[in-house]
Amino acid sequence: MIVCKFGGTSVASAEQIRKVVDIVSSNKDRKIVVVSAPGKRFSEDMKVTDLLILLANKALANEDIEAALSDVVERFRSIALDLGMDGTIADEIETDLRERLGRDKEDTLLYMDKMKAAGEDNNAKMIAAYFSFIGMEAQYVSPKEGGLLVSDRPERVRALPEGDNRLAKLRDLPGIIVFPGFFGYTNDGTIRTFNRGGSDITGSIIAAATKADLYENFTDVDSVFAANPTIIENPVAIDKMTYREMRELAYAGFSVFHDEALIPAFRKSIPVSIKNTNNPNAPGTLIVKERDYNEQQVIGIAADSGFTTIYVDKYLMNLEIGFGRRLLQIFEEEDISYEHTPSGIDNLSIIVRTRYLPEDKEKKIVERIHKELEPDAVIVEHDYSMIVLVGEGMQYTTGLAARAASAIARTGSNIDMINQGSSEVSLVFGVKKQDETKILKELYKEFFVNSFTRV
Ligand code: ASP
Repeated sequence: MIVCKFGGTSVASAEQIRKVVDIVSSNKDRKIVVVSAPGKRFSEDMKVTDLLILLANKALANEDIEAALSDVVERFRSIALDLGMDGTIADEIETDLRERLGRDKEDTLLYMDKMKAAGEDNNAKMIAAYFSFIGMEAQYVSPKEGGLLVSDRPERVRALPEGDNRLAKLRDLPGIIVFPGFFGYTNDGTIRTFNRGGSDITGSIIAAATKADLYENFTDVDSVFAANPTIIENPVAIDKMTYREMRELAYAGFSVFHDEALIPAFRKSIPVSIKNTNNPNAPGTLIVKERDYNEQQVIGIAADSGFTTIYVDKYLMNLEIGFGRRLLQIFEEEDISYEHTPSGIDNLSIIVRTRYLPEDKEKKIVERIHKELEPDAVIVEHDYSMIVLVGEGMQYTTGLAARAASAIARTGSNIDMINQGSSEVSLVFGVKKQDETKILKELYKEFFVNSFTRV
């Protein structure tokens, strides 16, 4: 049994949805179909989710909503009509959206979640209706009935394993199940969306809960590439990699697959296949538990910007028991998660994603560090990038770090932080944002052009 998920561009138009039909009907094992909201049809287009956010913001600001509402409804209507169906489904979508818009606005996060979820929810209903319309046995199942249970912290929504037993029953329902991605319900029935791109997570949760043989993630590229194709021309395609490698690459900006989506599949050892809706015969990228790393030591190079470093220096820090705990506790109490904590004898840096550290929080944290830990210096620096070299066996192969560091040195850039060892599969370099692109190019040359290690 296969769970397949189709991303926004795969369901952006009638033409794309017909490709979905071909893919689903070409293999009878494709039983559960998870869908995103309609995405972009061309690069300047708007995703339905973004249209819904605009609409919700207008409603929250008590502005006129009619034009924004019509933008969403007409997107769905044009897809339905192009698919040869009548406008009934679009009328139903309009009714649904008006009902959501009329709900209580006091909890703005919840209001926004309900509006955002409408994209996937209505798209799943429309696609299920289309499958039935063309004679396929199919039904829409809502995350509430299906049992997609999530935690109740609105800003950090995670799936709860308690829902798995109910989700497992999806396997036994007749025909094809069309399930909306991106949202679930808390134990008390409150709707919550995952963060952006979260339909990948839904697919993975369902694949794990139903013990699928395969989780196929259909998107708009042939495979995952060894480096970002907008920076490196024609990068090498990755045909197979491990969950850990994908996790590291997704974390550091490989947007092909959501970084939180791997965990459920990984825990149940469900292989994940990244495929292209527009070229389904391409082999894609298979993500599995293990691979022979001797064949290819470095699988990919990723970079992500938008990091802030809070550097704390105190003479004899190494002898001060509890210093690290107290420092991290400040972050915990201020509700800020951190990414890396490189340390020296007398210093420790906390690296966080700048988007999670509002200015007022930054100020408060720095003040608290000064007051509670009495350091010699606290220095905050913004605009950092993390360059991540990923490959199984990174720890066991001698010379890789030296090669990477020399490649970076050739660009004339400074390395502000190196983190090797904590992860078995990655080597992380903290560098200035302005150096990111040239470093990526040089590292790619080093590991994939000059001495490509694949055998
Ligand atoms: N539609 C949502 C987004 O645009 C979720 C998804 O497509 O995976 O972020």
